[in-house]
Amino acid sequence: MYPGSFDPITLGHVDVIERAAQMFETVTVVIAKNSKKTPLFDEHERLAMATASLVHLPNVSVTVHAGLVVDFAQEHGVDVIVRGLRAVSDFEYEFQIALMNRKLHPDVSTIFLMPHERYTYLNSSIIRELGRYRQDISDFVPLAVIEAMQRKFA
Ligand code: ADP
Repeated sequence: MYPGSFDPITLGHVDVIERAAQMFETVTVVIAKNSKKTPLFDEHERLAMATASLVHLPNVSVTVHAGLVVDFAQEHGVDVIVRGLRAVSDFEYEFQIALMNRKLHPDVSTIFLMPHERYTYLNSSIIRELGRYRQDISDFVPLAVIEAMQRKFA
């Protein structure tokens, strides 16, 4: 499983998912419904954008989950959690979550994949900010996100 907020999904996320899809038989992208952040897009919009952006990957599915990531993993027989690492600055936060998740469910492991370096400076909050000011985001997000962003800020 690849859990996250995906508010919205970016080409950095897609890059990580494509790598995971080559390594695992199936990959489930799990959109967190109840993030501590107030999302720009609700979970239905985030699900629709992610699903449309991943149709080229037949072994990848997308779902929404309200609750702990490790509980989803236990309930669905997931044994690997994939997270993306862009820079050293991601490490401390990811390290804490991974160790806590392992403490909660020792049989679920977290692995980290690095995206192509062209996406290392990319995050969803920058995209939301650029979208708000109607900047060109076509180098950073899938088409479905460009369209959703245009509707949101029309
Ligand atoms: P969260 O809100 O849990 O941080 P995100 O949706 O922002 O979730 O990201 C999900 C995962 O994808 C995290 O592991 C994050 O580090 C990673 N990620 C986010 N943006 C990128 C990117 N541009 N390239 C690679 N990984 C990324």
